[in-house]
Amino acid sequence: MQHNDPDLTLVTPTAPISTATHGGRAKCLQRLARLDLPVPLTVALSFEAVQRIAAGEMPDMHALMEPFGATPLVCVRPSSEDPDWGGPGAVLNIGMNDEVYKGLREKLGEDAAAAIYLRFVQAYALHVARLDPDMFDDVSLEGPDGLADVLRAYEDETEEPFPQDPAVQLAEVLRSMARAWSGTTARLLRQAKGAPVDAGLGLVVQAMALGLGQGECGSGVIQLVNSQTGHKQITGRYLSQSQGRDALQRGTNALYLERDSRGPSLEELAPEAFEALKAHTALMRQRLREEMQAEFTIQNGQVHILDGVRVQRSARAAVRIAVALAEEGIIPRDEALLRIEPRALNELLHRQIDPSAPRDRLARGIAASPGAASGRLVFTAAEAQASAARGEPCILVRRETSPEDIRGMHAAVAVLTERGGMTSHAAVIGRGLGLPCVVGASDIKFNLRKNALTAPDGREFRAGDILTIDGTNGDVLVGEPAMLEATQDDAFQTLMQWADDVRDIGVRANADTPADAQTARNFKAQGIGLCRTEHMFFEADRLTVMREMIFADASKDRRAALDRLLPMQRADFAELFRIMQGQPVCIRLFDPPLHEFLPHDRAGHRELAEALDLPLSDVTRRCEALAEYNPMLGMRGVRLGITVPEIYDMQARAIFEATILASRDGDPVVPEIMIPLVSAKREVELVKTRVDAVAAAVRNESGVSFTYRLGVMVETPRAALRAGEIAPYTSFLSFGTNDLTQMTYGLSRDDAGRFMSTYVQQGVFPEDPFHTLDQDGVGELLQIAAKRGRDASPNLVLSICGEHGGSPESIAFCRDAGFNYVSCSPFRVPVARLAAAQLAV
Ligand code: PEP
Ligand code: MG
Repeated sequence: MQHNDPDLTLVTPTAPISTATHGGRAKCLQRLARLDLPVPLTVALSFEAVQRIAAGEMPDMHALMEPFGATPLVCVRPSSEDPDWGGPGAVLNIGMNDEVYKGLREKLGEDAAAAIYLRFVQAYALHVARLDPDMFDDVSLEGPDGLADVLRAYEDETEEPFPQDPAVQLAEVLRSMARAWSGTTARLLRQAKGAPVDAGLGLVVQAMALGLGQGECGSGVIQLVNSQTGHKQITGRYLSQSQGRDALQRGTNALYLERDSRGPSLEELAPEAFEALKAHTALMRQRLREEMQAEFTIQNGQVHILDGVRVQRSARAAVRIAVALAEEGIIPRDEALLRIEPRALNELLHRQIDPSAPRDRLARGIAASPGAASGRLVFTAAEAQASAARGEPCILVRRETSPEDIRGMHAAVAVLTERGGMTSHAAVIGRGLGLPCVVGASDIKFNLRKNALTAPDGREFRAGDILTIDGTNGDVLVGEPAMLEATQDDAFQTLMQWADDVRDIGVRANADTPADAQTARNFKAQGIGLCRTEHMFFEADRLTVMREMIFADASKDRRAALDRLLPMQRADFAELFRIMQGQPVCIRLFDPPLHEFLPHDRAGHRELAEALDLPLSDVTRRCEALAEYNPMLGMRGVRLGITVPEIYDMQARAIFEATILASRDGDPVVPEIMIPLVSAKREVELVKTRVDAVAAAVRNESGVSFTYRLGVMVETPRAALRAGEIAPYTSFLSFGTNDLTQMTYGLSRDDAGRFMSTYVQQGVFPEDPFHTLDQDGVGELLQIAAKRGRDASPNLVLSICGEHGGSPESIAFCRDAGFNYVSCSPFRVPVARLAAAQLAV
C-alpha cells in the first residue's frame, strides 16, 4: 500500500510511522502490534494526508479500503502528536448500509445488527452531516423499528437517502474530521494546551471489533493502577453488548473488571478474557515503559486491543507510578525524576480536609491552588497582615487580587476571590506560595463595602467569621473541619531521595518562625537561607518595646529597651537552631523602614503616648520626624545598623548567646549573620567590626568558643557591581532578588502592580520580573557579582534568597552561574529539590 500512496500506511511492526508524522495514537498502535497484541487491522493517515483532505484532496479511497476486505466495517480515530491536544471524536461502524445490515442480522441477530447501524447513522448525522442533535429526541433508539425511524429522520432532514457506499461514507468522515481540526475553536483550544500553531492531525482507520453480537461481546477499558493514588489496582469497566467508551457512561450496568464485592465482574463472567486483558496490559506497561490504559473489545469471547493511552493520573499517582517503574527496573531512576513536573509536587504538599469529616458547604468555586486551611475572614491585605501579626490565621477575601495584595496573601492562610480563573493573579500567586486558593466563587455574593459574604442559601458571613477554603476541590466550607496533614508518602520520599542523590546545588528555606523552620525541616531543606528578623517584632508585646526603643532619645533609654528585646530574640534564635539541628541558619539583621513600626493615625498616636507615658505632641512630632518620602530607599537595612548600631549589637549578642545555648543541648551551631541592603564596602567593614567585638565579648563572658559566618545581601545594583571589594569581608553573598529587581528596574515592588499587566500585555516585559527572574538584566548583575566576588575570594559561598529562588527556571540560572544553593519558601523546597535534580541528570 505504501508504494501506491505514501500517505496511507498499514500499521505493521516495521512500517515507517512516527509520532511526528502520524501522531501518538498511530505510533502507539504500531508498538502494540510489535508486542503481538491482538490489534485490529489499522491504516494510518499522516499529518500531511489529513491536511490535504482538509483542503479537499482525497486519498485513493480504493487503496485505503482494500486491506479491510469486501464488506468493510471500520472506525476512524484522531491521532494528534500529543493526546492532550485533543482532536475530533472517533466515528465507529463506518461501512454500515442496508446490505451489510442484512448480513449482520444473520450473523449477530436482529438487535445487534440494528444497534450497530443505528449508532452509525446517528454519529454520521451529527459529525458529518452536522445535523441538530435534537432531531433524534422523539425517536426510539432501539431495535429494527428504531433504526427505521432514525433513517427516516435523517432523510427528512437532509432530503437525501442515507449514503450506502462505504467509500463515500469513509471519505465524508475523513473530510469532516480533518476540517474539524482546522476549525478556529479547535485550534484555540489546543493552543491553550500548549500545541504549536501548526500542530498536525493524523487519523487512523481501523477494522471494527464490534462488541455486539452472539457469545460474550462487549467493550471496556482496563488499567493496572488507581489513577488517584497510583497504587496497583485493576481499574476499569466492561459493558456487554457495547462499543467504544460506553462502559464508562454513568447509569449503565457496566461490570467491574476484577472480582468485587460491590457487584458482578468480568472476572466472573469471562475469566479467560479477563486473564488475557491483564496479561496484555501488563505487557504494555513493561514494554512501553508506562502505565497504560487499554481500550478493548470482546467479540464472542475473543479479546481485541483497540487502543492504548497513558493512564490519567493525579500528581500523587504520578510520583508513585514513576517510582514503581524505576524500582522494577522498567525505567532508570533518572527518567523517573524527569517524568515528574516539579511544580506538580505542589499538589502533594498540602494539608487536606479529612475525607471522613462532615462538610458544611457554603459554595463552590474554581480549585485554583491545592490544600485546605481554616481562618477568620478578612477583606483587605492590610487586615490580613494585622491578623497574621496577632498570630490569627485568616482567609483573605477579595473580588480579585492584584499585586498590591501579595503581602496580604503572604499573611493569609488561604485566599477566596469572586472572580478569576486558573491563571488569574490569585491562582498563580496562591500556587506559588503554596496557599490554598478558591477563585471565581461567583455563587457567593461579595459585599465588600459591608465586609460580608452571602451564601447562595442566604447565610451571611462577616469579617472575623471562620470559614475553610478547600483549594483542592474548590469548596468553601463553614467552620473548621478536621484536617489531614500533607502526606509525604513512601513513594514521594523515595523520589526525593533520588533527587537529592543526583542534584549538585543546595536547597535551603526562607523561614522566620519556628513553624516555618519545622516545615523547612520536614521538607528536608538543607538549612535556613533567610530569616527575616523584623518579622519577629510584629507581635503586640514586642511592638511596644520596639517602639520604646525607636522613641528613646538618650542612648541609655535605648539600651533599656534593647535589654528587654534581647531575651526575646535569644529565645527565637535558640528555637530556630534547635529545630534545624545543626544545619546552617542564616539570620538577616534587622531590615525594614522604621516608620513601619510607628502608628499611622491619631488613635494610634494616643495609644502609643499612653504606653510610653509621653505627651501626645511628643509622639506625633517624633513620628513626623521619622516619616520618609521614599521609605523603601530610606533608613532601611544596614543604614539603620550604621545609624543606630545598638540594634545590630543586640541582635548579634542574641544570636551568639543562642548559639551557645543550642550547641550545649544539641548539635553544634555555626550561625550565619547577613547584612541587608548593603551598597558600600565601608558599611560591611563597620558592621563587621562591631559584630566581631560582640562575639569576642560573649566568648569572654561565657568562656565558650564558637564561630560564625558573616555575609552580605546583594540587593542593590552597586553591591553587585562592587562585589569584588565587598567579598573579602564576608564568607557569603546572598542575592536578594526582590530588592535587586526593584532597584535594577527602578520599579517599586509595592506599586508596580498598577501597570504591570499593561506592560506584560503590550510585551514591554515578557513577564512580571518580580515573579520570573529577569535573566537579561538582573541576571547579568548576578553574573557580574558572582564573578567579581569569586575572583576576589574563591571560596565565597553564593546563593539566592529572593522569591525567585524556588522557581525551576531561576534554579537553572543560578546553577549555571555557579551558585552553592537557592533558598525559597518552605513549601517550595521539594519543588526546588526536584527541579535541581532534573538539571543534574
Ligand atoms: C529580597 O529583597 O530579595 C529579599 C529577600 O529581602 P526582602 O524581600 O525581605 O526585602
Ligand atoms: Mg530585600
